[in-house]
Amino acid sequence: MAKHKTLDDLFKTDINGKRVLVRADLNVPTDDKGHVTDTTRLARIADTLTELAGRGAKVIVLSHFGRPKGGPDPKYTLAPVADALAKVVGKPVAFAGDCIGEPARKAVDALPAGGILVLENTRFHAGEEKNDPALAQALAENGDAYVNDAFSAAHRAHASTEGVAHLLPAYAGRAMEAELDALETALGNPERPVVAVVGGAKVSTKIALLSNLIKRVDTLIVGGGMANTFLAAQGKKIGKSLCEYDLLDKAREIAAAAKAAGCELVLPVDVVVASEFKAGAAAQTVSVDAVPEDKMILDVGADTMAYLAGRFETAKTVVWNGPLGAFEVPPFDQGTAAAARLVGMLTKMGALKSVAGGGDTVAALNDAGAAEDFTYVSAAGGAFLEWMEGAVLPGVAALEA
Ligand code: AMP
Repeated sequence: MAKHKTLDDLFKTDINGKRVLVRADLNVPTDDKGHVTDTTRLARIADTLTELAGRGAKVIVLSHFGRPKGGPDPKYTLAPVADALAKVVGKPVAFAGDCIGEPARKAVDALPAGGILVLENTRFHAGEEKNDPALAQALAENGDAYVNDAFSAAHRAHASTEGVAHLLPAYAGRAMEAELDALETALGNPERPVVAVVGGAKVSTKIALLSNLIKRVDTLIVGGGMANTFLAAQGKKIGKSLCEYDLLDKAREIAAAAKAAGCELVLPVDVVVASEFKAGAAAQTVSVDAVPEDKMILDVGADTMAYLAGRFETAKTVVWNGPLGAFEVPPFDQGTAAAARLVGMLTKMGALKSVAGGGDTVAALNDAGAAEDFTYVSAAGGAFLEWMEGAVLPGVAALEA
């Protein structure tokens, strides 16, 4: 993986009084009155902002927020988010009503060294999502350097994530650096054996992911609804289970490619089935060769879990995306929870490194009480998945030294 310049490189020069544009992800959840309901994303960028401010930089924060239609929309103003950010960083945060032009320039001029300023939603300009060079240029006019701390937006080549990075000296912020380090640990240059867990509802959304992982990992565990498609592709009868029957050939192709690459593809050997997808539904565990016609597979069984445990116990690296079962509906959360807790415990013991992310994975690990024990849990849904698929993320590539 190419090396990125970080804040440590930026700090080799004197940045006192210098204008540093920081692309952050301020796209936080809010209630119907616009109040921020979860400050996790703000806490993740606090280190970058306070380190820069502590060295006397004028810290100018850029971000998108929601999906305005390429023009100003009060529903998507960042003003309340700037207030929430002030609480998180414990110092005043100024706000400007536009991310370019007079309002931005005036606010930057008025900002003292060591001050923090949030500029209005970059998506209030249609040029943002088009990566318009004129918008990138207008953004760059307010900065002497650019720091990207928004890995979660790095899969998009937008003016504030990619265009502007080519116009100023560009660096990875602390949160970006942590994310890139974790991804490098998981798949870039991992300690082997590497075990990947891929679960979730459908194969169709994860073909690129599976195709990339079989080339990179030693063992690929497929669970969740998507395992049903692989089981059906082997000719197993899976009753009323969720299955993409149009993808049986694709599943066979992926299984053959795994074999050719020397990657062990692990499918459930026993499963928890029920007649209905409902909390507390009567469940039983059966072999994958004996799924009743009128039942659906909703979780992995105990024999499967025992096999997975053996794989985790000898692994040095585990990378995880997606639940092994219908984890939102007990008792079908048990396979995911038990596997997550075991990986968490092995991580805590120092036996392996574990990196998880994407979609429902964070919720599933939180439900299991295991997220804190993982080496790294990425909050960047789409960007994490694209990275695991082996895609080049434009916002990361633009930072390469
Ligand atoms: P994804 O967004 O593709 O990661 O899929 C996550 C969803 O897959 C969750 O809502 C789970 O409830 C669902 N899921 C996992 N296993 C099964 C299964 N065996 N049958 C139906 N849905 C499942």
